[in-house]
Amino acid sequence: MKPDPMNKKIIEFLEEHNPDSPCLVVDIDLVIEQYENLSRFLPLVEIFYAIKANPAKEILLSLLSLGSRFDAASIFEIRQCLAVGAQPCQLSFGNTIKKESAIAEAFQAGVSLFAVDCDAEVEKISRVAPGAAVFCRFLTSGAGADWPLSNKFGIAPDEVIDVLVKAKRIGLKPQGISFHVGSQQRKPKQWADAIAKAAQLFLKANKSGIKLELLNIGGGFPSRYKEGIPNLNEICEEITKALCLHFGSSVPRVIAEPGRYIAGDAGVIEAEVVLVSQKRHGGRRWIYVDIGKFGGLIETIGEAIRYKIETTRDGGATGPVVLAGPTCDEMDVLYDQSNYQLPLDLREGDKIRFLSAGAYTASYSSTGFNGFPPLREYYI
Ligand SMILES: *Cc1c(COP(=O)(O)O)cnc(C)c1O
Repeated sequence: MKPDPMNKKIIEFLEEHNPDSPCLVVDIDLVIEQYENLSRFLPLVEIFYAIKANPAKEILLSLLSLGSRFDAASIFEIRQCLAVGAQPCQLSFGNTIKKESAIAEAFQAGVSLFAVDCDAEVEKISRVAPGAAVFCRFLTSGAGADWPLSNKFGIAPDEVIDVLVKAKRIGLKPQGISFHVGSQQRKPKQWADAIAKAAQLFLKANKSGIKLELLNIGGGFPSRYKEGIPNLNEICEEITKALCLHFGSSVPRVIAEPGRYIAGDAGVIEAEVVLVSQKRHGGRRWIYVDIGKFGGLIETIGEAIRYKIETTRDGGATGPVVLAGPTCDEMDVLYDQSNYQLPLDLREGDKIRFLSAGAYTASYSSTGFNGFPPLREYYI
Protein backbone atom coordinates (compact mmCIF):
# COMPACT_ATOMS: atom_id res chain seq x y z
CA MET A 1 0.00 0.00 0.00
CA LYS A 2 1.31 3.44 -0.93
CA PRO A 3 -0.40 5.46 1.76
CA ASP A 4 -1.50 9.00 1.24
CA PRO A 5 0.95 10.98 3.43
CA MET A 6 -2.06 12.86 4.76
CA ASN A 7 -3.23 9.70 6.49
CA LYS A 8 0.12 8.80 8.06
CA LYS A 9 -1.16 8.86 11.63
CA ILE A 10 -4.15 6.68 10.71
CA ILE A 11 -2.03 4.13 8.84
CA GLU A 12 0.39 3.90 11.77
CA PHE A 13 -2.53 3.32 14.12
CA LEU A 14 -3.93 0.57 11.88
CA GLU A 15 -0.57 -1.13 11.57
CA GLU A 16 0.19 -0.95 15.26
CA HIS A 17 -3.22 -2.00 16.59
CA ASN A 18 -4.52 -4.17 13.77
CA PRO A 19 -8.15 -3.63 14.87
CA ASP A 20 -10.91 -6.03 13.86
CA SER A 21 -12.26 -5.32 10.38
CA PRO A 22 -14.05 -3.23 9.26
CA CYS A 23 -13.35 -0.05 11.16
CA LEU A 24 -13.24 3.70 10.74
CA VAL A 25 -10.26 5.63 12.06
CA VAL A 26 -10.52 9.42 12.23
CA ASP A 27 -7.50 11.64 12.81
CA ILE A 28 -8.70 14.50 15.01
CA ASP A 29 -5.72 16.62 13.96
CA LEU A 30 -7.08 16.52 10.41
CA VAL A 31 -10.55 17.53 11.59
CA ILE A 32 -8.97 20.52 13.28
CA GLU A 33 -6.92 21.33 10.18
CA GLN A 34 -10.05 21.28 8.01
CA TYR A 35 -11.88 23.58 10.39
CA GLU A 36 -8.94 25.97 10.52
CA ASN A 37 -8.58 26.03 6.73
CA LEU A 38 -12.19 26.94 6.29
CA SER A 39 -12.03 29.66 8.96
CA ARG A 40 -8.91 31.05 7.33
CA PHE A 41 -10.49 31.22 3.87
CA LEU A 42 -13.83 32.56 5.15
CA PRO A 43 -12.72 34.75 8.06
CA LEU A 44 -16.02 36.61 8.33
CA VAL A 45 -18.23 33.54 8.18
CA GLU A 46 -19.30 31.76 11.37
CA ILE A 47 -18.97 28.00 11.14
CA PHE A 48 -21.80 25.79 12.38
CA TYR A 49 -20.57 22.20 12.01
CA ALA A 50 -23.38 19.99 10.62
CA ILE A 51 -23.04 17.30 13.21
CA LYS A 52 -24.94 14.65 11.26
CA ALA A 53 -21.79 14.13 9.16
CA ASN A 54 -20.06 12.63 12.18
CA PRO A 55 -21.37 13.28 15.69
CA ALA A 56 -18.49 11.61 17.57
CA LYS A 57 -17.88 13.25 20.91
CA GLU A 58 -14.17 13.64 20.14
CA ILE A 59 -15.02 15.69 17.05
CA LEU A 60 -17.60 17.85 18.84
CA LEU A 61 -15.20 18.55 21.71
CA SER A 62 -12.29 19.53 19.50
CA LEU A 63 -14.46 21.79 17.33
CA LEU A 64 -16.00 23.35 20.41
CA SER A 65 -12.55 24.22 21.71
CA LEU A 66 -11.86 26.03 18.42
CA GLY A 67 -15.00 28.13 18.77
CA SER A 68 -17.18 26.23 16.34
CA ARG A 69 -20.93 26.36 16.54
CA PHE A 70 -23.21 23.51 15.60
CA ASP A 71 -26.03 22.82 13.18
CA ALA A 72 -28.26 20.16 14.72
CA ALA A 73 -30.85 18.20 12.80
CA SER A 74 -32.78 16.65 15.68
CA ILE A 75 -33.42 17.04 19.38
CA PHE A 76 -31.02 14.15 19.91
CA GLU A 77 -28.21 16.07 18.23
CA ILE A 78 -29.11 19.14 20.30
CA ARG A 79 -28.82 17.05 23.47
CA GLN A 80 -25.47 15.70 22.24
CA CYS A 81 -24.12 19.21 21.70
CA LEU A 82 -25.34 20.43 25.08
CA ALA A 83 -23.90 17.34 26.75
CA VAL A 84 -20.40 18.16 25.50
CA GLY A 85 -20.72 21.70 26.81
CA ALA A 86 -21.95 23.74 23.84
CA GLN A 87 -23.99 26.79 24.85
CA PRO A 88 -27.55 26.94 23.48
CA CYS A 89 -26.66 30.18 21.66
CA GLN A 90 -24.04 28.23 19.71
CA LEU A 91 -26.69 25.91 18.25
CA SER A 92 -28.99 26.16 15.30
CA PHE A 93 -31.88 23.73 14.87
CA GLY A 94 -31.32 23.55 11.13
CA ASN A 95 -33.73 20.85 10.02
CA THR A 96 -36.88 22.27 8.44
CA ILE A 97 -38.81 19.21 9.68
CA LYS A 98 -39.14 19.10 13.45
CA LYS A 99 -41.61 17.65 15.93
CA GLU A 100 -43.35 20.26 18.01
CA SER A 101 -42.12 18.53 21.17
CA ALA A 102 -38.54 18.75 19.87
CA ILE A 103 -38.88 22.47 19.18
CA ALA A 104 -40.31 23.00 22.67
CA GLU A 105 -37.49 21.09 24.36
CA ALA A 106 -34.80 22.91 22.35
CA PHE A 107 -36.36 26.30 23.09
CA GLN A 108 -36.65 25.56 26.80
CA ALA A 109 -32.99 24.58 26.76
CA GLY A 110 -32.19 28.02 25.35
CA VAL A 111 -31.89 27.32 21.62
CA SER A 112 -33.52 30.14 19.70
CA LEU A 113 -32.56 29.79 16.04
CA PHE A 114 -34.70 27.54 13.85
CA ALA A 115 -34.91 26.68 10.15
CA VAL A 116 -38.26 26.82 8.36
CA ASP A 117 -39.51 26.38 4.83
CA CYS A 118 -43.29 26.57 5.13
CA ASP A 119 -46.18 28.16 7.01
CA ALA A 120 -47.02 25.07 9.03
CA GLU A 121 -43.53 24.89 10.52
CA VAL A 122 -43.65 28.60 11.35
CA GLU A 123 -46.96 28.07 13.17
CA LYS A 124 -45.53 25.14 15.08
CA ILE A 125 -42.53 27.18 16.23
CA SER A 126 -44.69 30.14 17.27
CA ARG A 127 -46.81 27.84 19.46
CA VAL A 128 -43.94 26.42 21.51
CA ALA A 129 -41.04 28.84 20.96
CA PRO A 130 -42.64 32.31 20.95
CA GLY A 131 -40.27 35.05 19.86
CA ALA A 132 -37.69 32.64 18.44
CA ALA A 133 -35.60 33.60 15.40
CA VAL A 134 -36.24 31.76 12.17
CA PHE A 135 -34.52 31.62 8.81
CA CYS A 136 -36.25 30.39 5.68
CA ARG A 137 -34.59 27.96 3.31
CA PHE A 138 -34.99 28.33 -0.43
CA LEU A 139 -34.41 25.65 -3.04
CA THR A 140 -31.35 25.33 -5.20
CA SER A 141 -31.04 23.09 -8.24
CA GLY A 142 -28.37 20.87 -6.72
CA ALA A 143 -26.58 20.93 -10.09
CA GLY A 144 -22.89 20.13 -9.74
CA ALA A 145 -23.44 18.19 -6.50
CA ASP A 146 -22.78 14.46 -6.23
CA TRP A 147 -25.31 14.26 -3.38
CA PRO A 148 -27.98 16.84 -4.30
CA LEU A 149 -30.43 18.20 -1.75
CA SER A 150 -32.76 19.82 -4.22
CA ASN A 151 -36.16 18.44 -3.54
CA LYS A 152 -37.00 17.58 0.04
CA PHE A 153 -36.08 20.89 1.70
CA GLY A 154 -36.59 24.50 0.79
CA ILE A 155 -39.18 26.46 -1.13
CA ALA A 156 -39.06 28.45 -4.35
CA PRO A 157 -37.44 31.87 -3.80
CA ASP A 158 -40.70 33.67 -4.65
CA GLU A 159 -42.48 31.97 -1.72
CA VAL A 160 -39.89 32.89 0.90
CA ILE A 161 -41.12 36.39 1.69
CA ASP A 162 -44.65 35.18 2.44
CA VAL A 163 -43.29 32.70 4.99
CA LEU A 164 -41.16 35.39 6.64
CA VAL A 165 -44.06 37.85 6.73
CA LYS A 166 -46.22 35.22 8.35
CA ALA A 167 -43.49 34.48 10.90
CA LYS A 168 -43.37 38.15 11.84
CA ARG A 169 -47.13 38.43 12.05
CA ILE A 170 -47.35 35.60 14.58
CA GLY A 171 -44.61 36.88 16.81
CA LEU A 172 -41.41 35.24 15.58
CA LYS A 173 -38.23 37.04 14.50
CA PRO A 174 -37.77 36.53 10.76
CA GLN A 175 -34.02 36.69 10.83
CA GLY A 176 -32.68 35.41 7.57
CA ILE A 177 -32.42 33.24 4.54
CA SER A 178 -30.67 29.92 4.00
CA PHE A 179 -29.78 27.60 1.17
CA HIS A 180 -27.75 24.46 0.62
CA VAL A 181 -26.12 24.04 -2.79
CA GLY A 182 -26.09 20.23 -2.47
CA SER A 183 -23.60 18.01 -0.74
CA GLN A 184 -20.22 17.26 -2.35
CA GLN A 185 -20.72 20.30 -4.56
CA ARG A 186 -17.99 20.54 -7.19
CA LYS A 187 -18.98 23.82 -8.89
CA PRO A 188 -17.99 26.99 -6.99
CA LYS A 189 -20.37 29.05 -9.12
CA GLN A 190 -23.35 27.34 -7.46
CA TRP A 191 -22.63 29.27 -4.24
CA ALA A 192 -22.35 32.55 -6.16
CA ASP A 193 -25.68 31.98 -7.91
CA ALA A 194 -27.43 31.18 -4.65
CA ILE A 195 -25.91 34.21 -2.92
CA ALA A 196 -27.21 36.41 -5.77
CA LYS A 197 -30.72 35.01 -5.24
CA ALA A 198 -30.45 35.48 -1.50
CA ALA A 199 -29.45 39.13 -1.96
CA GLN A 200 -32.58 39.74 -4.02
CA LEU A 201 -34.64 38.20 -1.24
CA PHE A 202 -33.01 40.51 1.31
CA LEU A 203 -34.15 43.48 -0.81
CA LYS A 204 -37.63 42.09 -1.25
CA ALA A 205 -37.96 41.42 2.46
CA ASN A 206 -36.89 44.97 3.18
CA LYS A 207 -39.69 46.25 0.95
CA SER A 208 -42.12 44.14 2.97
CA GLY A 209 -40.90 45.78 6.16
CA ILE A 210 -38.61 42.97 7.28
CA LYS A 211 -34.98 43.74 7.96
CA LEU A 212 -33.05 40.50 7.55
CA GLU A 213 -29.73 40.07 9.33
CA LEU A 214 -28.60 36.52 8.64
CA LEU A 215 -27.49 34.65 5.55
CA ASN A 216 -26.90 30.92 5.98
CA ILE A 217 -24.89 29.52 3.06
CA GLY A 218 -25.25 25.90 4.20
CA GLY A 219 -22.75 23.13 3.52
CA GLY A 220 -21.67 21.38 0.36
CA PHE A 221 -17.90 21.89 0.70
CA PRO A 222 -16.43 18.75 -0.88
CA SER A 223 -14.19 15.89 0.25
CA ARG A 224 -11.47 14.24 -1.83
CA TYR A 225 -13.10 11.27 -3.48
CA LYS A 226 -12.20 9.68 -6.81
CA GLU A 227 -13.04 12.63 -9.06
CA GLY A 228 -11.30 15.98 -8.78
CA ILE A 229 -12.70 18.86 -6.77
CA PRO A 230 -11.91 22.57 -6.76
CA ASN A 231 -9.54 23.82 -4.09
CA LEU A 232 -11.23 25.12 -1.00
CA ASN A 233 -9.81 28.58 -1.60
CA GLU A 234 -11.43 28.73 -5.04
CA ILE A 235 -14.82 28.02 -3.50
CA CYS A 236 -14.26 30.50 -0.70
CA GLU A 237 -13.07 33.22 -3.08
CA GLU A 238 -16.20 32.72 -5.16
CA ILE A 239 -18.31 33.06 -2.00
CA THR A 240 -16.50 36.18 -0.80
CA LYS A 241 -16.67 37.78 -4.23
CA ALA A 242 -20.38 37.09 -4.50
CA LEU A 243 -21.06 38.49 -1.02
CA CYS A 244 -19.28 41.74 -1.93
CA LEU A 245 -20.85 41.95 -5.36
CA HIS A 246 -24.43 41.36 -4.27
CA PHE A 247 -24.50 42.84 -0.78
CA GLY A 248 -21.95 45.63 -1.26
CA SER A 249 -21.28 47.45 1.96
CA SER A 250 -24.16 45.82 3.81
CA VAL A 251 -23.02 42.20 4.07
CA PRO A 252 -25.14 40.58 6.80
CA ARG A 253 -24.03 38.08 9.44
CA VAL A 254 -23.07 35.02 7.36
CA ILE A 255 -22.96 31.47 8.66
CA ALA A 256 -21.95 28.21 6.96
CA GLU A 257 -22.80 24.65 7.91
CA PRO A 258 -20.02 22.38 6.64
CA GLY A 259 -20.39 18.70 7.48
CA ARG A 260 -18.66 16.54 4.91
CA TYR A 261 -15.73 18.92 4.49
CA ILE A 262 -14.88 18.89 8.20
CA ALA A 263 -15.05 15.15 8.85
CA GLY A 264 -14.70 13.47 5.44
CA ASP A 265 -11.01 13.70 4.63
CA ALA A 266 -10.06 13.08 8.25
CA GLY A 267 -11.14 9.43 8.23
CA VAL A 268 -10.18 6.13 6.63
CA ILE A 269 -12.20 2.92 6.67
CA GLU A 270 -10.16 -0.23 6.64
CA ALA A 271 -12.00 -3.34 5.50
CA GLU A 272 -11.11 -6.80 4.33
CA VAL A 273 -11.70 -8.83 1.19
CA VAL A 274 -14.06 -11.71 1.99
CA LEU A 275 -14.35 -13.34 -1.41
CA VAL A 276 -13.13 -12.94 -4.97
CA SER A 277 -15.27 -14.58 -7.61
CA GLN A 278 -14.72 -14.59 -11.36
CA LYS A 279 -18.30 -15.19 -12.50
CA ARG A 280 -18.89 -17.03 -15.70
CA HIS A 281 -22.37 -15.51 -15.80
CA GLY A 282 -21.74 -11.91 -16.83
CA GLY A 283 -18.02 -12.51 -17.17
CA ARG A 284 -17.03 -10.12 -14.42
CA ARG A 285 -14.78 -10.30 -11.39
CA TRP A 286 -16.72 -9.71 -8.19
CA ILE A 287 -14.91 -8.66 -5.05
CA TYR A 288 -16.88 -8.90 -1.83
CA VAL A 289 -15.63 -6.96 1.17
CA ASP A 290 -16.71 -6.99 4.82
CA ILE A 291 -18.34 -3.56 4.64
CA GLY A 292 -21.27 -2.56 2.45
CA LYS A 293 -24.24 -0.27 2.22
CA PHE A 294 -25.58 -1.28 5.63
CA GLY A 295 -22.24 -1.12 7.40
CA GLY A 296 -21.42 2.51 6.70
CA LEU A 297 -21.11 2.95 2.93
CA ILE A 298 -24.71 3.90 2.21
CA GLU A 299 -23.59 6.95 0.20
CA THR A 300 -22.57 4.53 -2.56
CA ILE A 301 -26.31 4.43 -3.34
CA GLY A 302 -26.61 5.15 -7.05
CA GLU A 303 -22.78 5.16 -6.91
CA ALA A 304 -23.17 8.82 -5.93
CA ILE A 305 -20.11 9.00 -3.70
CA ARG A 306 -17.09 7.28 -5.19
CA TYR A 307 -14.39 6.74 -2.57
CA LYS A 308 -10.72 6.47 -3.41
CA ILE A 309 -9.66 2.93 -2.66
CA GLU A 310 -6.25 1.54 -1.71
CA THR A 311 -5.32 -2.10 -1.20
CA THR A 312 -2.34 -4.02 0.14
CA ARG A 313 -1.53 -5.16 -3.40
CA ASP A 314 -1.42 -1.80 -5.14
CA GLY A 315 1.41 -1.36 -7.65
CA GLY A 316 0.84 -4.37 -9.92
CA ALA A 317 -1.58 -5.02 -12.78
CA THR A 318 -5.22 -4.11 -12.22
CA GLY A 319 -8.50 -5.05 -13.85
CA PRO A 320 -12.15 -4.06 -13.64
CA VAL A 321 -14.28 -5.27 -10.72
CA VAL A 322 -17.72 -5.19 -9.29
CA LEU A 323 -17.26 -4.29 -5.63
CA ALA A 324 -19.92 -5.52 -3.22
CA GLY A 325 -20.74 -5.71 0.46
CA PRO A 326 -21.12 -8.82 2.60
CA THR A 327 -24.85 -8.94 3.35
CA CYS A 328 -27.52 -11.13 1.79
CA ASP A 329 -29.18 -8.20 0.10
CA GLU A 330 -29.18 -7.70 -3.64
CA MET A 331 -28.81 -3.94 -3.28
CA ASP A 332 -25.64 -4.29 -1.22
CA VAL A 333 -23.37 -3.64 -4.20
CA LEU A 334 -20.99 -0.69 -3.86
CA TYR A 335 -19.70 -0.12 -7.39
CA ASP A 336 -20.82 -1.81 -10.57
CA GLN A 337 -20.89 1.06 -13.12
CA SER A 338 -18.14 3.40 -11.93
CA ASN A 339 -15.19 1.70 -13.58
CA TYR A 340 -13.27 0.67 -10.49
CA GLN A 341 -10.02 -1.18 -11.23
CA LEU A 342 -8.35 -3.23 -8.52
CA PRO A 343 -5.21 -5.41 -8.45
CA LEU A 344 -5.61 -8.70 -10.29
CA ASP A 345 -3.96 -10.60 -7.45
CA LEU A 346 -6.25 -9.20 -4.74
CA ARG A 347 -7.49 -12.11 -2.65
CA GLU A 348 -9.49 -12.92 0.46
CA GLY A 349 -8.02 -11.63 3.68
CA ASP A 350 -6.34 -8.66 1.97
CA LYS A 351 -6.95 -5.24 3.45
CA ILE A 352 -8.76 -2.60 1.47
CA ARG A 353 -9.03 1.04 2.49
CA PHE A 354 -11.68 3.60 1.67
CA LEU A 355 -10.18 7.08 1.92
CA SER A 356 -11.95 10.29 2.94
CA ALA A 357 -14.53 8.19 4.75
CA GLY A 358 -14.91 10.20 7.95
CA ALA A 359 -18.30 11.74 7.06
CA TYR A 360 -21.67 10.06 6.54
CA THR A 361 -20.32 6.58 7.26
CA ALA A 362 -20.32 5.70 10.96
CA SER A 363 -23.29 8.01 11.52
CA TYR A 364 -25.31 6.01 8.99
CA SER A 365 -24.23 2.64 10.27
CA SER A 366 -26.23 1.55 13.24
CA THR A 367 -28.63 -1.03 11.99
CA GLY A 368 -26.87 -4.30 12.58
CA PHE A 369 -28.60 -5.68 9.49
CA ASN A 370 -27.83 -9.39 8.97
CA GLY A 371 -26.25 -9.39 12.41
CA PHE A 372 -23.22 -7.40 11.28
CA PRO A 373 -22.38 -4.99 14.10
CA PRO A 374 -22.29 -1.20 13.53
CA LEU A 375 -19.01 0.17 12.23
CA ARG A 376 -16.20 0.18 14.82
CA GLU A 377 -14.84 3.70 15.32
CA TYR A 378 -11.53 5.05 16.59
CA TYR A 379 -10.74 8.74 17.08
CA ILE A 380 -7.04 9.36 17.45
C1 LIG B 1 -26.59 18.00 5.73
C2 LIG B 1 -26.68 19.45 5.95
C3 LIG B 1 -25.51 20.21 5.98
C4 LIG B 1 -24.14 19.64 5.72
O1 LIG B 1 -23.91 19.45 4.38
P1 LIG B 1 -22.49 18.99 3.83
O2 LIG B 1 -22.69 18.84 2.39
O3 LIG B 1 -22.13 17.74 4.53
O4 LIG B 1 -21.51 20.08 4.15
C5 LIG B 1 -25.63 21.56 6.23
N1 LIG B 1 -26.82 22.13 6.45
C6 LIG B 1 -27.97 21.43 6.45
C7 LIG B 1 -29.25 22.12 6.71
C8 LIG B 1 -27.93 20.08 6.18
O5 LIG B 1 -29.06 19.38 6.15
